Amino acid sequence: MTARPRPKAFPAATVLGYPRIGPRRELKRALESYWNGRTGRDDLAATGRELRAATWRRLRDLGVETPPSNTFSLYDHVLDTAVLLGAVPERYRDAEDVTFAMARGTDGVAPLRMTKWFDTNYHYIVPEVGAGTVFELAGDKPLREVAEARELGIETRPVLLGPVTFLLLAEAAPGSPAGFTPLHRLDAVLEVYARLLAALAAEGVGWVQLDEPALVADRTDAELVATRVAYERLGGLADRPGLFVASYFGDLGAALPVLAETPIEAIGLDLDRGREILGRPDLGSLAGKTVVAGVVPGRNVWHADLDDALDTLRFLRGRVGEVTVGTSCSLLHVPHDLDLETGLDPDLRRRLAFADQKVGEVVTLAGLLAAAPAGADPVAPPVRARAAAKATEATQATDLAGESRRSPYPVRAAAQAEHLRLPPLPVTTIGSFPQTGGIRGARAALTAGKITNERYERLVESEIERAVRLQERLGVDVLVHGEPERNDMVQYFAEHLDGFATTRHGWVQSYGSRCTRPPILHGDVSRPEPITVGWARYARSLTPKPVKGMLTGPVTITAWSFIREDLPLPAVFGQVADAIRGEVADLEAAGVSIIQVDEPALRELLPLRRADQDAYLEHAVGAYRRATSVAADRTQIHTHLCYSDAATVLTAIDALDADVTTIESARSQARIVADPALGSFGRGLGPGVYDIHSPRVPGTAEVAALIEAILAVLPAERVWVNPDCGLKTRTYEQVEAGLANVVAAAASVRERLGA
Ligand code: GLN
Ligand code: ZN
Repeated sequence: MTARPRPKAFPAATVLGYPRIGPRRELKRALESYWNGRTGRDDLAATGRELRAATWRRLRDLGVETPPSNTFSLYDHVLDTAVLLGAVPERYRDAEDVTFAMARGTDGVAPLRMTKWFDTNYHYIVPEVGAGTVFELAGDKPLREVAEARELGIETRPVLLGPVTFLLLAEAAPGSPAGFTPLHRLDAVLEVYARLLAALAAEGVGWVQLDEPALVADRTDAELVATRVAYERLGGLADRPGLFVASYFGDLGAALPVLAETPIEAIGLDLDRGREILGRPDLGSLAGKTVVAGVVPGRNVWHADLDDALDTLRFLRGRVGEVTVGTSCSLLHVPHDLDLETGLDPDLRRRLAFADQKVGEVVTLAGLLAAAPAGADPVAPPVRARAAAKATEATQATDLAGESRRSPYPVRAAAQAEHLRLPPLPVTTIGSFPQTGGIRGARAALTAGKITNERYERLVESEIERAVRLQERLGVDVLVHGEPERNDMVQYFAEHLDGFATTRHGWVQSYGSRCTRPPILHGDVSRPEPITVGWARYARSLTPKPVKGMLTGPVTITAWSFIREDLPLPAVFGQVADAIRGEVADLEAAGVSIIQVDEPALRELLPLRRADQDAYLEHAVGAYRRATSVAADRTQIHTHLCYSDAATVLTAIDALDADVTTIESARSQARIVADPALGSFGRGLGPGVYDIHSPRVPGTAEVAALIEAILAVLPAERVWVNPDCGLKTRTYEQVEAGLANVVAAAASVRERLGA
């Protein structure tokens, strides 16, 4: 075997990835117009090409010599990886567009499951891998992007999802034998990676980045063995580019020595969230590899502390030798460019860095590192000033423990039954109704100063009336006002609370074409005046039926914002919880007897390491209880969460002590029903029976079957009937048809129950 020539030096400054949606959400527009049939495949491809070219040029102009490629995706990079490896389940193979069929479903076939990418608000499509999946190199996207960049005169480093993370994120195909896990297919997958690496090497590609964020979570011995096998195998190939394995979102823990012993040439460390690694005695085992030091945080919007980052880089250089500067993770999770954001308060603006500004920091640090004499590098890990401040303030953190409702659940349930007099299996929705073109246009016109606030409010009222009338006509039992006034469930509250700033262009991809603009929590939170009470009053005035008040919970507001890093998380939770508590009290005082406090993000900030999870959940639950415990016994508190594999947090959901919990379920074919933890769930529960993520309208019999499956494990008096989530992304036509079937299904089951 011929020895591989050592790859040429890793670039001194790099980023692990870059936003792909476009500074003006060009990708979103192109996707949606393609899906609506307004434009063709060629137009979509052209937008993709323009965005990639703009990204590579931008990064090069900012000083990144070898920008990453293959970070672009029309939908999701995990999905792209599945398609590239040939892992396309049989049922999608005949679709006109296989990738979009897997992501969004087709008329006859439901989409693959989607879930959160680690502890971020980005969602990936969960690949299905079975014992019979035929892996093959089924595409050439990474190669095409290399060639495309070369046409612009730019040499790139293709980024691939690593084989271990790919398999750990995949789920076993339906019908897999007991005990099968996708990782069993490692050898077959490595075969394809080997072919791909050979093809890239044949094109003269110098380096490939393999992303392995799964290695920062707790891993079993078998998983660590798989990691060793994977990188010994790929590292041992004669024909391959230099291998850069990137870890991010935490520290490598037990995977560090495993990777250190494999023949990969470069390793990426997240020195924002995985800073513990600096204190490890075995850090020196990385000597001989290039360490790509992720000192510029990719998960927040604050300027990096350049002094601290430089100290970190120099300390590392002293320990391991070869150090280059990178971001802690892909910049996918931050907005493109602060320069677009002209309306922010100048004092706040000075403290901020979006993707392009972070790239600038990386390049600056690479220059500073090169200029600093290596002989004088510090021998002790730097103590981060911000971390130190955090630690002292942690002791003064708002105490979130010990908040509870006046009476235990059974007492409250009786008081509520008496007060509300609802039928069995009450039908409700999760809150939002379709955001029509009309209301979005009105909001844009208001922002542009083209209509008055009074005019806007009348338009919101007519949308509320439309939603209320529809629900009355369909026979929904607990109504909602439909949230037409909300651009977004978090941004809306941030706009009405002090301590937050909101942006105009600060979009971050959430999934596919969907983006959010996370607010920036920069000061102390307070609520200058009631936020939702006026709309709730108006909705109630329209109907004798109960209308739920609708609030976003403190954990979700925090999780979906960029938050302060000088405060410990529980202190941030506490401030936001107090603001929401005030709103709960005001709604109740206005006569609203059912108040829903949504926490779809409860699990999102759940630490990746088990050892840290209990403390987090305790704080999150504490925040929720602080926000809701002000309600009287007869006020029914609802909460809503957006995922079905509740088992991991079911105890925490129970601890929220909400009277009713609605939860996503239909999308995963009511898997929750099989969850053994469900039997012990002691409060009202509404597992979704209508998958609203897809335009498909479920039939009455299908919904009734889901309700029956739920009734097989939960007592009827605690079951609610509702969709999986809010209806805002659907059309009125779909919603009307879907809800009519949900109401009819509930009626038929009630009849069978003899109610
Ligand atoms: N009440 C919100 C809605 O219906 C909840 C959304 C969510 O769970 N993400 O839109
Ligand atoms: Zn939801």
